[in-house]
Amino acid sequence: MTVNLDSLKILVLNYSYEPLQFCNAKRAIVMVLTGRAESLELDGCFVRTPNTAYRLPIVIRTLKMVRRKRRKGISFSKKNILRRDNYTCQYCGDNSRLMTVDHILPKSRGGKTNWVNVVVACKPCNLRKGDRSLQEIDMNLVRKPFKPDYQLYPFQISSDSPSHVEAWKKYLPKKLFLAGALN
Ligand SMILES: [Zn+2]
Repeated sequence: MTVNLDSLKILVLNYSYEPLQFCNAKRAIVMVLTGRAESLELDGCFVRTPNTAYRLPIVIRTLKMVRRKRRKGISFSKKNILRRDNYTCQYCGDNSRLMTVDHILPKSRGGKTNWVNVVVACKPCNLRKGDRSLQEIDMNLVRKPFKPDYQLYPFQISSDSPSHVEAWKKYLPKKLFLAGALN
């Protein structure tokens, strides 16, 4: 099997075992080989170089504490609404079209522009809903909108390797899975 090391995601933990971010496999291997990190979980795949072969890490841990920058929280924007809802219409679950954002309770009826009243919607749903409330048109939300925790953002991925998700679960916060950030 050939693995593209640039697109393969590896979970990086801090020295304290707190999750830091994902990085690509190439970077993870370099960190391990240069002694900046250790492998905690290994995949069955081998990475071969002309002289040697070593097992691909899935989870690595830095050997020095990495200080995290404090951030104020995630800003409210269309882009971040799209990311939170995984570019998926929150009315019909479609994710194949170009998405818009929609006020659940329309602005014209006092609906606020905030994390809990704005969701991703496909054009047909947006049009269908128009200026009505969910009750009036009998539409439901795929998921209740929420203000995301910015710390979870580096971990929002749609994984192409479910076997690794299982290995990551041990180290990632539970709420990440409850929020559906990994799917
Ligand atoms: Zn839709």
